[in-house]
Amino acid sequence: MSAFPGRPAPDPLPEPRSAPHPSHLEAPATARRALAEALAELRPIGVRTVGDLLEHVPFRHDDYRSSARLADLKPGQEATLVVTVERVRARPTRRRNLVIVEANVRDESGPGVIVWFNQRYLLKQLQPGMRLSVRGERRPTIDAEVVAKSHERAAEPEERLHTAGLVPVYRASERVSSRQLRSLAAEQLPHAGDRPDVLPAGTRARRRLPLRRDALHACHQPRTLAEHALGRRRLAYDELFLLQRGLVRRRRELDAVTRARPLPPPGDLAARYMASLPFTLTAAQTRTAGEIDGDLARPVPMRRLLQGDVGSGKTAVAVYALLRAVESGGQGALMAPTETLATQHLLAVGAACEPLGVRVVGLMQGLPARERRAALGVIESGEPLVVVGTHALIQQAVAFGGLTVAVVDEQHRFGVEQRRALEEKAADGPSPHVLHMTATPIPRTLAMTVYGDLDVSVLDELPPGRTPVVTRLVGGARRDEVFARMRRLLDEGRQAYVVCPLVSESERSQATAAEAEAARLESGELAGYRIGCLHGQLPVGERRLLMDRFRAGALQVLVATTVIEVGVDVPNATVMVIEQADLFGLAQLHQLRGRVGRGAHESYCMLIADPVTDEARARLDAMVRTTDGFELAEVDLDLRGEGTLLAARQSGVPDLRHARLTRHRRLAMLARVDAVEVLDGPADPARDALMDGEARRMFGADVDFGAGA
Ligand code: ADP
Ligand code: MG
Repeated sequence: MSAFPGRPAPDPLPEPRSAPHPSHLEAPATARRALAEALAELRPIGVRTVGDLLEHVPFRHDDYRSSARLADLKPGQEATLVVTVERVRARPTRRRNLVIVEANVRDESGPGVIVWFNQRYLLKQLQPGMRLSVRGERRPTIDAEVVAKSHERAAEPEERLHTAGLVPVYRASERVSSRQLRSLAAEQLPHAGDRPDVLPAGTRARRRLPLRRDALHACHQPRTLAEHALGRRRLAYDELFLLQRGLVRRRRELDAVTRARPLPPPGDLAARYMASLPFTLTAAQTRTAGEIDGDLARPVPMRRLLQGDVGSGKTAVAVYALLRAVESGGQGALMAPTETLATQHLLAVGAACEPLGVRVVGLMQGLPARERRAALGVIESGEPLVVVGTHALIQQAVAFGGLTVAVVDEQHRFGVEQRRALEEKAADGPSPHVLHMTATPIPRTLAMTVYGDLDVSVLDELPPGRTPVVTRLVGGARRDEVFARMRRLLDEGRQAYVVCPLVSESERSQATAAEAEAARLESGELAGYRIGCLHGQLPVGERRLLMDRFRAGALQVLVATTVIEVGVDVPNATVMVIEQADLFGLAQLHQLRGRVGRGAHESYCMLIADPVTDEARARLDAMVRTTDGFELAEVDLDLRGEGTLLAARQSGVPDLRHARLTRHRRLAMLARVDAVEVLDGPADPARDALMDGEARRMFGADVDFGAGA
């Protein structure tokens, strides 16, 4: 093994020693029955071929590098000993199911005793005269007796696998132990170079990465921890590189096959909209509007993700994009994940657009048939206008006459399929420009991978004059104080939300729980106050009515399920109580809290909880500590890992074996740069085919990465 930067090596980047012959890596069955049988037993852990076996890198190494002589081993000390067996016997024990095998051994320093627990077969295996390498610990109390952790024959010059050096520990299958995997992997490691190294030598040198062959060696059998880290880095890099290459290429292919109508530069309507706003845009909003203008001017569809924390003013930007469509004689559509949010948007968008003479049409479930028909009619006519609605917009047969800009709010709730359906709305004509918005921001470096086929804009500043919501964690025993505080604020004219405990996933039982809670509060803590109850099982019209009454102040308290999570905007509501807050996820808590702190008055978020798990405690502590969505996103990632991140977006981004999105952010960025460079560089069909094959092998054939996949 060679080619580790930083280690003296004559040639830092040697080419593979032998001509690649990958067939052995792909064949599950081989001439060796034992190997074929072992591979069959490894299927449950996803190892089917020799190649998979080599990719199944250990999750840990035991440091067995220290060695000692019998006479020098101190009580409590652990080391590797090389001894000769003299005598082996079973030590009598009083406990029936306890077997102690005891061996009298000797090395050049003198005699000693080694014991094994519950390994009766050793009575047959260990023979006098045998040379053994033993990893063991000298008992602190009993003189000179060493308890064996691991042992193997020490027949020179055979290399020791299990008792010396950094010993790999593998995730085992039910039938194949970590020790067996260690032997199998060591036996197959010479094939690590059979598959060609896909990384161009220049890239490898620039990123100071070892050959893949050497990286696999270093992952399984490292000589130093530094070497191991470098090996892991290479494997992680390969995944990220091929992932980024796939994402960038998918995006380019989409751009190549889809056409959008390029819009002229912003004109009179855009200017009038800006002038009509009761505030000046934040620098982040202005920058984002500029990025959108840039996208809209191109003959390919905008595919942009707008990330912004709750309250960062995404709606103002969305309306700008919609008006740009109308201004150019086209239609704008705003889609929301829930009826509540769509209703909210309809109000906000209507209030912004109608004074400018722009027609806004709502399209929701439960719309009276006549109104619905009329709405569909104008949408189909192609009349320049703005349409606001829910999924219904794309799920039902809505034929847009001139859809030019689509804004999809809360992007993470929309799967790839729905995004595609939206783009297909354009049928044969040009595709709409699409802006996705999410209030669950993730760090930009991560967004690049998770949303790798979208451009990303970030609203990283809140409008001025916001007072951060004061958040408190209160134990259930002090519930009364929370409601006493709420009553005081209600008496001062403020309004409040009470979010019900998350009893189950089912909307129906959630609704029942909310109604029960509302009834309880009405006759208890909040007797005499005007209370409404909002949940997902209410007919749409009723829900709208409730929201209207709350907004108008006719209701003082809204007891609700998480349906109020997104978009509800009532500035006079300054208190939110979340019951059993430990049951909610961090992103959800943050979204819920975003419903308050929208006006001039000081706002409060009371988390009632007695967290029992460390994770729940960490979530709630983070909520109390910060109101910054990006910071909370980081905490959430740390707590939950990234699997959930990828799963949540139903994105077609595959699971990663070696790379960790959280840990390898910089590496992901470098991989992106390198992938773009390769894609932009001179064509090299052989290399491309190699990379495609490797990507398919890595991510599975069904991950849609465009060409070749
Ligand atoms: P979100 O990003 O959560 O969707 P909204 O678009 O609902 O945020 O904006 C939250 C509130 O902030 C709204 O009441 C909106 O009118 C207000 N707002 C948006 N942009 C600005 C700004 N630049 N200055 C002041 N207030 C703003
Ligand atoms: Mg919003």
